[in-house]
Amino acid sequence: MKVLKVDHIGIAVKSIETSLNFYSGLLGLKSEGEETVAEQKVKTAFLPLGETEIELLESTAPDGPIAKFIEARGEGIQHIAFAVDDIDEAIKELEAKNFRLIDHKPRAGAGGKRIAFLHPKDTFGVLVELCEKSTE
Ligand code: ZN
Repeated sequence: MKVLKVDHIGIAVKSIETSLNFYSGLLGLKSEGEETVAEQKVKTAFLPLGETEIELLESTAPDGPIAKFIEARGEGIQHIAFAVDDIDEAIKELEAKNFRLIDHKPRAGAGGKRIAFLHPKDTFGVLVELCEKSTE
């Protein structure tokens, strides 16, 4: 598996709009616009910063994964995403090494990326997302 960079850091917030007071208003980061991933009941905003991005995550439903995360742990860092050159190969390697995966097949993430999550029990408590940029 070839890891290219920290692609983004996912931060669960109650309200993207409110959190932008800090991320844009104070830090000066610019949102690339919001996108809803209906399947995950989440609205996201990506804020590029150098080689990486901040991903703000707001739940669109009270039973969505982000709403549950905030209920259990409060707002905060929810996942770290590593860009890989070949996500299918990365998943195969992790499966062969008996890592627990939440996604055994890449699924569609925001920004047209293909993504897969690893189980935090095997990654020292950090929810790790692998992502591969679409090649179109
Ligand atoms: Zn993410």
